[in-house]
Amino acid sequence: TIKVYDWLAHHARRTPEKLAQHDLFSGRRFTYAEMNLRAGRLAAWLRGEGGLAQGGRAAVLSHNTTDMFDLQFACAKAGTVFVPLNWRLAVAELEFIIKDCTPEILFYSSEFSEEAQTLGKNCGLSRLVELDPQGRPDSTFEQLIAGQPEPLPHAELVHDDLLTIMFTSGTTGHPKGAMITHGMSFWNAVNLGGPAHVTTDTCHLAVLPLFHTGGLNCYANVAFHAGGTVLVMRTFDPGQALDMLLDRQGGITHFFGVPSHYQFMSLQPAFEKADFSHLTICGVGGAPCPVSVIELYGQHGVSIQQGYGMTETSPTVLVLDAADGIKRAGSTGLPALHTEVRLVDEQGRDVTRPGEIGEIWVKGPNVTPGYWNRPDANRESITDGWLHTGDAARFDEDGFYYVVDRWKDMFISGGENVYPAEVENVLSRLPQVAEAAVIGVPDEKWGEVGMAVLVLKEGAEIGEAEVLQHCGANLARYKVPKSVRLVPALPRNATGKILKRVLRDDVTAEAG
Ligand code: AMP
Ligand code: MG
Repeated sequence: TIKVYDWLAHHARRTPEKLAQHDLFSGRRFTYAEMNLRAGRLAAWLRGEGGLAQGGRAAVLSHNTTDMFDLQFACAKAGTVFVPLNWRLAVAELEFIIKDCTPEILFYSSEFSEEAQTLGKNCGLSRLVELDPQGRPDSTFEQLIAGQPEPLPHAELVHDDLLTIMFTSGTTGHPKGAMITHGMSFWNAVNLGGPAHVTTDTCHLAVLPLFHTGGLNCYANVAFHAGGTVLVMRTFDPGQALDMLLDRQGGITHFFGVPSHYQFMSLQPAFEKADFSHLTICGVGGAPCPVSVIELYGQHGVSIQQGYGMTETSPTVLVLDAADGIKRAGSTGLPALHTEVRLVDEQGRDVTRPGEIGEIWVKGPNVTPGYWNRPDANRESITDGWLHTGDAARFDEDGFYYVVDRWKDMFISGGENVYPAEVENVLSRLPQVAEAAVIGVPDEKWGEVGMAVLVLKEGAEIGEAEVLQHCGANLARYKVPKSVRLVPALPRNATGKILKRVLRDDVTAEAG
C-alpha cells in the first residue's frame, strides 16, 4: 500500500515557471504552477458541484487537447476515475462503454456535441460539460475552472486505487475496460523513463490519441512525472509533425508514434533531406514495425526505439535500448525493469529455447488488476497475476524478444504456422509499397493461404508476379502469399492498427 504522491504539486513547487504543456491547436501554454492550479480547481469542481464521490467516473470525448491532461490530473487529485473515450467509435459502441462504466459526467469537445447529446439521452447521463478547443475564457469549461477559487488538495490514495478506465481498441469483440491504477501509471513512468531517457529536460511531441495508452503514457505521463514538457497535437498531421521534429530551434527531444506515423512522415517531401540526429528518442510501438522503416530512419540519423506493450500493462512490457535500435531492428528488446515476461506455448508450457514461439504472459506492478465488470474475461486472461497478452513472440540466443504477431492473426497453411507480420515485413521492402497487410484466406489444398493486400506509393506500379517473386526470394514457400490485391487504403483503427477482421470480411464479401 504505497501512498500516491501529487506529481503536479511537486513540480509546481520545484519548477513553477517551467512549461508543463502546450496546446498546439489553441496555442495555450501552461506552466507547472498553472497546470497544478487548473487541475486542483477542476478537482474541487468534480468533488463539489460536479457531484462525484471518491471512485466516481468522469468520461471525456475529445480530440487531443491539454484539457485532457488537466482532467486526468484533476481526477487523480480528486480520487475520481478518468475515462477517455475513443472518438472514432460509433455512438452505439460508445453507448455500450458508457453503460458499462456508468460515469456521472461526460466532458465533450464542441465537435462531438451531437454525439454527446445522444449519449446523454440514451444513457441517462444528465451532466454534460462542453470543452472549447480554443479554450476561450468565456467558455463553459473555463468558467467552471474560474469559479473554483480553492484548489482541492490531493486525495489520500494508494497505488491500488483506480486512476483510469481505458477501453481497449477492440480489434476483436466488444471493448473491455482495462482498469488502470495509480500504481500502474507510476511504474510505467519508472519502467519507460529510464530507457527512453525522459528527464526534466524532455520536450515530447504527443500525437497519438489521448484516449489510448500510447497517447497518455508514451511519453506524456512519463514526462509529467519527470517534470518535462508535453506539446499536444490535436490529431496527427504528418507534415506538421515532421516540420516540428526537424525544427532544431523548436526544442523537441522526444516523439512516439505507431509504425504508420513513421511511414506517413517518410512520404512527405521534406523527409528526403530530413536529419533527426538532434532528437533524444523516437519511439515506436503499438503494432509490428517493418524493419525497412527502422533502416530508413537510420539513414536519417535516428535509431528508432522499438517497444512492445498494451493498454493492460500501461503499456511498457518490452523495450529495446535506442543504441541497439538498428543493430537489432525487428526486436522489441528486453523486459522493462519492474516487469516479468514469459512465453507460454499451446500446451501451457514455458518456452525455453530460442526461436520457439509462445504467447507473451506478463506480470508486474504495471499490469492491470483486471477488466471493469468482466469477471469472465479476468478469469480467462489472468492466471496467478500473469496476464495473457494474446500476442505471439520468440526470443533469440541473447534473450531479445521478437513479437511475431497476434496469436489470433496467425493462420495455418499446409500444417505450418504463418505469422502475417513476418510476410508484411518482406513486402514493405518493395520500393513501390507504401503499406502492406497479409491475411489468411480459405484454400482447398492448403487449408489457408496468404493474401497480400497492398497500398502502393503514389504513381507506383507493380505486378502480382513481381510481388510473389520477391516474397519467394525472401520467405519459405508456405509463407509466400498466393494472391495480391491492391487497395487505396488499409482499414485501421484510431491508433493505426490494421483491422485484419475488416480486411478478411471485405475479401469474403467480394468472393461471395
Ligand atoms: P492496445 O490493446 O490498443 O493497447 O494494443 C496492444 C496490442 O498492440 C498488443 O497486444 C499487440 O498486439 C500490439 N503491439 C503493441 N506493440 C507491438 C509491437 N512492438 N510489435 C507488434 N505488435 C505490437
Ligand atoms: Mg488489446
